[in-house]
Amino acid sequence: MVKIDLNLKCVVFDMMVGGHDISYCYQCGRCNDDCPVSARWGSRYNPKDIVLFSALGYKEALFAAVKRDSFVLWGCTACETCDEVCPSGIHITDIICLLKNAAVAAGAAPAYYYDSSKAIMDAGMAIPVQAAIEKRRETLGIGASPKIPVDEVKTIMQATGADKLIEIGGTKK
Ligand code: SF4
Ligand code: SF4
Repeated sequence: MVKIDLNLKCVVFDMMVGGHDISYCYQCGRCNDDCPVSARWGSRYNPKDIVLFSALGYKEALFAAVKRDSFVLWGCTACETCDEVCPSGIHITDIICLLKNAAVAAGAAPAYYYDSSKAIMDAGMAIPVQAAIEKRRETLGIGASPKIPVDEVKTIMQATGADKLIEIGGTKK
């Protein structure tokens, strides 16, 4: 039986601003037709379905699909093309962003998001400085990589609760 998450429904309906209510979606499919990710990956990615599942509160169904293939949600590049073409003016990219945040908080995001976030907290950057990169910088005459204030990065991540989200991701592995 499909479970309805009323909280997700409320959050998604509440976040729509300027009258671009998600209930105005009539499933025309224009967002999907013009989405560059969908054009490349076909049935693996469909913003129209994401909007429908959000409006119906099918969070678990959506997250279960994400578990089978993270591309279902994380394939979105946030290019906002769908927002521009939606005849109902729905802010689809915001909905997808909200769902991504919910997935992170539930430990349902792909492992590499948590791993990259942890690398940023530990080293101030997702890709730590490497000898090969430094050598290339020297060749290009742009000097050594700037020093990252790792403590400041860590403080910001702790203040925003990002450290807790990274922990949640770690426990779900
Ligand atoms: S383009 Fe807008 S109205 Fe059409 S399916 Fe997508 S979200 Fe719904
Ligand atoms: S924002 Fe995401 S869903 Fe919308 S067109 Fe771009 S890739 Fe597709």
